[in-house]
Amino acid sequence: MSDSATRLAPGATIGILGGGQLGRMLALAAARLGLKCHVFCPDPQAPAFDVVRRTTQADYGDENALDRFAEAVDVITYEFENVPAETAAFLAERRPVLPNPSVLATTQDRLTEKTFVANLDVRTAPFAAVDSPAGLAAALGRIGRPAVLKTRRFGYDGKGQALIRETTEAAQAWKAIGAHPAIVEAFVPFEREISVIAARQHDGQVECFDVIENEHRDHILKVSRVPANVPAALAAEARRIAEKIAAAFDYVGVLAVEMFVVREASAHTVLVNEIAPRVHNSGHWTLDGCSVSQFEQHIRAVAGWPLATPVRYGRVEMINLIGDEVANYGRWLAMPGTAVHLYGKNGARPGRKMGHVTRVFPE
Ligand code: AMP
Repeated sequence: MSDSATRLAPGATIGILGGGQLGRMLALAAARLGLKCHVFCPDPQAPAFDVVRRTTQADYGDENALDRFAEAVDVITYEFENVPAETAAFLAERRPVLPNPSVLATTQDRLTEKTFVANLDVRTAPFAAVDSPAGLAAALGRIGRPAVLKTRRFGYDGKGQALIRETTEAAQAWKAIGAHPAIVEAFVPFEREISVIAARQHDGQVECFDVIENEHRDHILKVSRVPANVPAALAAEARRIAEKIAAAFDYVGVLAVEMFVVREASAHTVLVNEIAPRVHNSGHWTLDGCSVSQFEQHIRAVAGWPLATPVRYGRVEMINLIGDEVANYGRWLAMPGTAVHLYGKNGARPGRKMGHVTRVFPE
C-alpha cells in the first residue's frame, strides 16, 4: 500500500520501526497531537518503549510479528535508515509506509545515494565505487589525495571510514574498513558543516527549518548552532537543495541533508555529504527553540496533516551528552534557560548518545 495521502484522525495509531531516542521523541510529539504510537524494535531496552503503550519486541525478519504490528497500526514510519528492505516491502503490502521504502533503498548505500544526488545536478565531493584494492588504487589516481574511503552500507558516526593521505596507506585503509564494497571520495577541506532539515507533505508542501551549523568530535555530532554562520544566499541555496532532494524522492516526512561549506576562489559553495531519511540529531534544537519541532513536523506529514511554518525563537545551541558526560545532568538542570533531555538509556558507553541540552538566546 503506497497511499501517501492517508489522513489520520486523532486517536489513530502510527507504527514506528526503531526504538531509539528518535522514536521516543517522535512518540512524545505524536502524543501531544492526540495520536498513538506503536514501536517495533528488536532491542528489549529500546528507549522509545518507555513512552508508548503498544510495543513489539521482535526481529525485523519476524513475519508473524510484523503482520500483527501492521494489523495494529494505521500507517508506518521509521526512525532509522537501516530498516531491512524486505521488512519495509513486507509492511508496505499491508499498510502505507512513509517515507516510501524506495527512499531507504537509495539512502542505505552511499554509492546509490551520491549518484542520486549527482543526477539532480547537486554537487558532492568527487567519488568513485571501489570493490578491490586494485580498484582503490585506480580510483585514487582519478580522485587524488587526501581521500576518504567509506563502506557503502551501514556507516554512521564515522564508522566504516578511513582517511587516505598517501597512496601507500591505501591497502591499510581497505583492510580497516573490512574490505567491504566501498566508495572513495575526495577529502573536502570544508570551512564548516551544515545541515538542512526539511519536512514535506504528500501534496508537495515543504517547510525547512533554518540552516544548522554542526560541530563534530570524534566523528560524532557534539554541538549544533542555529542559525549557521553562512551568507544568506548560501543558506537559501542549501534549503533549495534539500527541497529538490525531497521532491525527487516524492518524500513524505522529515529528512536531513548534511552538507559541507567550501570556499572556492572568493565565493562559498555547498557540497552534499549525506542524506538521512528521518528526523536527525542536528534538528533536536527545534524541540525548545522553535514553534514546531522536527518530530511534530514528521508526525504531521505521515498523518497527512498540514505542516506548520517554523518560527525560531532566537539563537539556539544544542549540545549532545555523549557517554559519561550524562553524569553531569545535575549541572545542566541547574543552568538557567537550559532545557535538558535524557533518553533513559542504561549504560553510558563511550560514544553513546545519552541525552542533549538546548539553550536559546535572544537575537
Ligand atoms: P559521514 O559518515 O559521511 O557523515 O561522515 C562523518 C564525518 O566525517 C562528516 O561529518 C565529516 O566531518 C567527515 N567527512 C566525511 N566525508 C568527508 C570528506 N569527503 N571530506 C572531509 N571530511 C569528511
